[in-house]
Amino acid sequence: MLRLYNTLSRSIEDFKPLESKKVSIYVCGPTVYDVPHIGHARSAYCFDVLRRTLQFKGYEVRFVRNVTDVDDKIIQKAREELGARSEGQGEGDLKAKCKEVAERYLKGYHEAMDRLDIRRPDIEPKATEHVVPTMTDLVGKLLVSGSAYEAEGDVYFAVRHSPEYGRLSNRSIDELQAGARVEPGEHKRDPLDFALWKAAKSDEPFWKSPWGYGRPGWHIECSAMSTKYLGDTFDIHGGGLDLIFPHHENEIAQSIAAGKPFAKYWIHHGLLTVGGEKMSKSLGNTITVDRALTDSQGKGDTLKVFFLSTHYRSPIDYNLQQVQAAYARWSNFNQLFSYAEIENKHVKQRESAVRGKISLSPALAKGLKGIEDKFDGAMANDLNTPQALASLDEIVVFANKLRRQVTELEQSGKPVDEGQYQQTRDDSALGVVAAKELLLRLGREVFGLFTEYAESPVELSPQQKAKLREREEARTRKDFRTADRIRQELQAEGWIIEDRLGKPDVRRKQ
Ligand SMILES: [Zn+2]
Repeated sequence: MLRLYNTLSRSIEDFKPLESKKVSIYVCGPTVYDVPHIGHARSAYCFDVLRRTLQFKGYEVRFVRNVTDVDDKIIQKAREELGARSEGQGEGDLKAKCKEVAERYLKGYHEAMDRLDIRRPDIEPKATEHVVPTMTDLVGKLLVSGSAYEAEGDVYFAVRHSPEYGRLSNRSIDELQAGARVEPGEHKRDPLDFALWKAAKSDEPFWKSPWGYGRPGWHIECSAMSTKYLGDTFDIHGGGLDLIFPHHENEIAQSIAAGKPFAKYWIHHGLLTVGGEKMSKSLGNTITVDRALTDSQGKGDTLKVFFLSTHYRSPIDYNLQQVQAAYARWSNFNQLFSYAEIENKHVKQRESAVRGKISLSPALAKGLKGIEDKFDGAMANDLNTPQALASLDEIVVFANKLRRQVTELEQSGKPVDEGQYQQTRDDSALGVVAAKELLLRLGREVFGLFTEYAESPVELSPQQKAKLREREEARTRKDFRTADRIRQELQAEGWIIEDRLGKPDVRRKQ
């Protein structure tokens, strides 16, 4: 049974999805106004591990992560870029610029996550594509129910109408009241209230609604898009700890006021600091994904091991020492793969010599099963990845011990019985190969590691996947010359690509 910490109850609960074998997850995704940094990578990876763990346990997962592509920061960025070019641009320019900024940074985000081989969501809804009617319908419902009110073209949610407000963040309305402010230009009745809809300002992007031209507040998009794709109630809602208040608190208030029971489990990951400080432009301490990959010798796996070394709910500090330690740990895993190839050759030779199969001893099989059970137990206990990683280390120790036994026998200087030596040698080879299989299976399926390991690769590497996407883009714009070139490159790397029904079919060259 998987157990997960639910922020709503502030306790670790047994995970029981609404449907026995299916799990629905909604995660708050990036606001696309700048290059992706290591904090984005941690967030995306935490939830990829949750998704993989559920799939490993046999659940069918539907994973939705949104893209916030209209927002004050995007508008601000677009203004800066226009201002840098020339003064006095017209209205149309800012709108077009906002779109261009959001598209550019979303592309950068995708490329960065692809390089780390963190899987994309099943559905990735963009806010701008769901304003009318998805968000406007929800705002309309809240107005009808009396939970919201109009004021000078804005629409606000009346927080005091929501009896459970503050439950997720564990704060009372009065405590929250003390920190609430009314910003200039807002028309709230109560400082606690928040905007569902903001009246249009002349040159900003806007949509037509029953209460005038404007754009949605940030919180409404997640309430509207999560329930559109997952239903009025779904299993898991996730995000960073910093989203608990006000974003997730407001999402809950809106959804419940609209008669939606909303998410059952709220999962939040801890935040990432650099040198003990929050990353910020003013401190100049932002670590982009590109930079982090350079620090990790170009290996996405190193960063994954670095993230896994800390529990997802704990804060994590990015520093080179820890990244190097993660690289060393990953190298140990990788070394087992090389040893296993040598041992595998031994197994094949012996099998052809005895004209039959030689098999793993029950004691060694049991030893490995014990490690696998520990790994499963750690993951089932609120995704305890530091402990699960320790089990992967144990697999390496297990294999090294077997290899050492053979070396010790060979170097003992005493006469060795030929039959006994052969048995030890075979047991060791079979044990090392089985250890490698276990490491590869758990590492790949649960943590998304070792996808580049290429004894007989079963899937494309992140770089190859990126190339395939580039080829698809080229085909869409009818640039067949580029598409052909990429196909030849992948062919040279051992992959055959055939286009069937407009989609590429990829398989390994035999
Ligand atoms: Zn959200």
